[in-house]
Amino acid sequence: MKGDWKSRGFSTRAIHAGQKPDPTTGSVAVPIYATSTYVQDELGVHKGFEYARVQNPTRFALEENLAALEGGVTGHAFASGMSAIATLMTLVRSGEHVVFSRNVYGGTFRFMTQVLDRYGVESSWVDSTDLDNVRAALRPTTRMIYVETPTNPMMEVTDLAGAAQLAREKGMLLAVDNTFMSPYFQRPLELGADVVVHSTTKFLNGHSDSIGGALVAKSPEQGEWFYFVQKSEGAILSPFDSFLTLRGIKTLGVRMERHETNTRVLVERLARHAKVRRVFYPGLADHPGHALQQRQAGGFGALVAFELGSYDAAKRFLDRVEVLSLAESLGGVETLTCHPASMTHASVPADRRAELGISDGLVRISVGIEDVEDLLADVDQALGAL
Ligand SMILES: *Cc1c(COP(=O)(O)O)cnc(C)c1O
Repeated sequence: MKGDWKSRGFSTRAIHAGQKPDPTTGSVAVPIYATSTYVQDELGVHKGFEYARVQNPTRFALEENLAALEGGVTGHAFASGMSAIATLMTLVRSGEHVVFSRNVYGGTFRFMTQVLDRYGVESSWVDSTDLDNVRAALRPTTRMIYVETPTNPMMEVTDLAGAAQLAREKGMLLAVDNTFMSPYFQRPLELGADVVVHSTTKFLNGHSDSIGGALVAKSPEQGEWFYFVQKSEGAILSPFDSFLTLRGIKTLGVRMERHETNTRVLVERLARHAKVRRVFYPGLADHPGHALQQRQAGGFGALVAFELGSYDAAKRFLDRVEVLSLAESLGGVETLTCHPASMTHASVPADRRAELGISDGLVRISVGIEDVEDLLADVDQALGAL
């Protein structure tokens, strides 16, 4: 049935793609193949599986599934989102240059400026909500444009089809970190991107119980390179985590719908609340990226940031929440809230944080799928303390 999935609906693909019943038993769930090696039939004759860093059936099932969901040719699962990004960056050589959305994940910024910088890979950071800024940053050595949309935590939206056109014009690659939207809401390859990046830790696995990452390639050549680097560098996703992630993905569609309806209700309450100065959510009509988000994605997601005016106000809110958990990360079934300036973005220098709008009074919520009445009541009582 491989390759048949293109004509099926999203959730049908999420549940079935890459997951043929186990040939020995018919097991409907893909088994966790916990093995390091495979016995060969005779010298030179094996079943296509030699050593588990290179081939593992549980990981392969997840990889095929991810490719089907993003509409790519191959998927590649890694030990973390960061190891997926590190593998992606092997497409760039010493002396070459990458243009980034200025507001990408902090770990990506750290990796580029403190690790790859040592190898002569150069990077620029621009406000990619205006593609003229991207165009202006291009150099003869630019190899890749790297976009995250919407960004964390300010929810800035970049035009993916426009960025893809610009990349094509200039003979460069467009890579998109699609972690926040998941393929349920946004499929960058369909809009012209070349590679999709995921931290599967977030919405794809969705249960806050695994760290993982993925790349999905649009061309077979790129897929082959990622496979080669995956086996050469070895930062593979374990069979157990592959199993968990496959299991999580089966409910991605229903989870994303519920994440988003909960978020809309919560955002409405926040936007009307006297103690909340400003709400950042692309689903709000006055958000600068609203129309673009509506055009290029199937939803607005479950991340919302809001301004309480001071560190003290943010701290009082965060110390008082009971149903919401004070924690980094996002995309799980439980609602998490954090203080970006001192938590997720602490490694970003203060002047850069100010430039990005990440103030000391800013709070972020990753809205989970609990009963929304409980989330509203908790946010109300915590804001009531201000
Ligand atoms: C979490 C995250 C990453 C990094 O993923 P890890 O799994 O933590 O290594 C990359 N990009 C985005 C948008 C993220 O949220």
